[in-house]
Amino acid sequence: MIMNKKRGLIMGLANKFSIAYGIAESLKEHEADLLFTAQTEYFKDKISGILEDFKSPEAIICDVSKDGEVEKVFENIYEKYGELDFIIHSIAFSDKNELTGKYYNTSRANFLNAMNVSCFSFTEICKHSQKLLKHGGSILTLSYYGAEKVVPNYNVMALAKSALETSVRYLADDLGEFDIRVNAISAGPIKTLAASGVGEFSKILEFERHRSPLKRNVTQKDIGDTATFLLSDLSKGITGEIIHVDCGSNIIGVKF
Ligand code: NAD
Repeated sequence: MIMNKKRGLIMGLANKFSIAYGIAESLKEHEADLLFTAQTEYFKDKISGILEDFKSPEAIICDVSKDGEVEKVFENIYEKYGELDFIIHSIAFSDKNELTGKYYNTSRANFLNAMNVSCFSFTEICKHSQKLLKHGGSILTLSYYGAEKVVPNYNVMALAKSALETSVRYLADDLGEFDIRVNAISAGPIKTLAASGVGEFSKILEFERHRSPLKRNVTQKDIGDTATFLLSDLSKGITGEIIHVDCGSNIIGVKF
């Protein structure tokens, strides 16, 4: 029960298929107390049943693309619930019409929006994290292999993830003096709402299953359990890392 007496915030739960759901399940197994934000009223309603199962209070609306929203929400959470031990950023967005075909067709508007929601939001969360993690803690985000190598159709999201991974290193250095650790999981592909926007996603799943040494795709539980480790005191000496949870797929160069 490594999360006993620890409380944290999960940002990015959309439904039971979300990676955030797998993380929440693992954290709950280890007795963490969980708070959640939701992007809109629509998502807040959609996840209300799930939050009841987790014995969590109703979600707090936080659209990370809005100026000042993260700071305001963190202040409200502190006033209502007090200090936390960890924060999870499981948020990304791109217009799905630009997650197919050639990368160079990305529009300026979608490039900026994808960077804003998928990358800058993490910087903003870290900037205001001390409002909640007053005595240190752990912050986690989610990346993907497309940040490192070309993956068909991943396009602008790949650039957002590359920037996110670099952010993790800079933010880990910025926040180290406050005993706040910052890490990312580079997760193998999982069929979620966000992933279904990536063109030919089922082929990516099939490719990674074939390539991986473990000969399977990752599960929500695989990612959730590593997240729990990174959010717990068992990983006290780890910060600024991008940990692959992909059944080993990223280590393979050529596979017959
Ligand atoms: P998901 O659709 O379940 O979750 C994405 C979440 O982002 C949703 O809850 C959505 O409400 C939220 N979001 C989007 N725009 C927002 C905004 N403006 N403000 C607040 N929230 C906003 O999909 P997921 O696959 O669980 O995605 C979670 C994270 O995992 C993302 O960063 C994604 O890139 C990453 N990831 C996913 C995979 C995969 O294959 N599914 C692999 C590696 C990394």
